[in-house]
Amino acid sequence: MWGLDHRGAPLRWDACEPIRLVLSEQGAPDHAVRDLTAALMVLRDATGLDLQLLGTTDERPRVDRPLVEDDGTGWQWRPVLVAWAQPGEGGIALTTLDRGVALPVSVRDGEQEAYVTGQVVLNAARTDLIDGFADRRDAIGATLLHELGHLLGLAHVEDVSQLMSTDPGSGPVVLGAGDLAGLRAIGAQSGCNPAPPAEAGRGLSPGRHPRPTDHHRQGG
Ligand SMILES: [Zn+2]
Repeated sequence: MWGLDHRGAPLRWDACEPIRLVLSEQGAPDHAVRDLTAALMVLRDATGLDLQLLGTTDERPRVDRPLVEDDGTGWQWRPVLVAWAQPGEGGIALTTLDRGVALPVSVRDGEQEAYVTGQVVLNAARTDLIDGFADRRDAIGATLLHELGHLLGLAHVEDVSQLMSTDPGSGPVVLGAGDLAGLRAIGAQSGCNPAPPAEAGRGLSPGRHPRPTDHHRQGG
């Protein structure tokens, strides 16, 4: 149900630090902040993780996005970038039919291994998608929940009643029992999981690190 770290445990974020996100405004629909905020609230409740939307940015997604930045006080892992992009932009593996793609980045430094940053890119060309959470297959809110689930460490499941199914079924957007169990396991109940120091990310690019990627095609 998730990737494993070098200890054989579910690979996850540090549950004792905020997970910071920024939204790229360019190409994002008017309801992007509302849907993203709602999705983050659902995931905060399900995981106990402190998911924080810091604000908006003009940064654009790219496959080789740097992992760290020096904010004047020292090196930091960069906030997760959430963006709407056209297929092919920035070298991101997003095809015409995908709803979105999640690119969490994990880093290991000795015994420390954790997700530290990442990108969630929704397909700006899928103008058929609707706002809110009314339908699992076609709603932006459902797509955000699913992709953010990947960002937090969940993989696909076969059961179409779960939002982490490769191709979620139709109907109102709710997390299934399996979704919730998975989110709890990678959440606060599992305790801290200190991330490597951000200095370890200098000079690294996500393109040189194997990481889960995700492709969502319109279901038949
Ligand atoms: Zn997926």
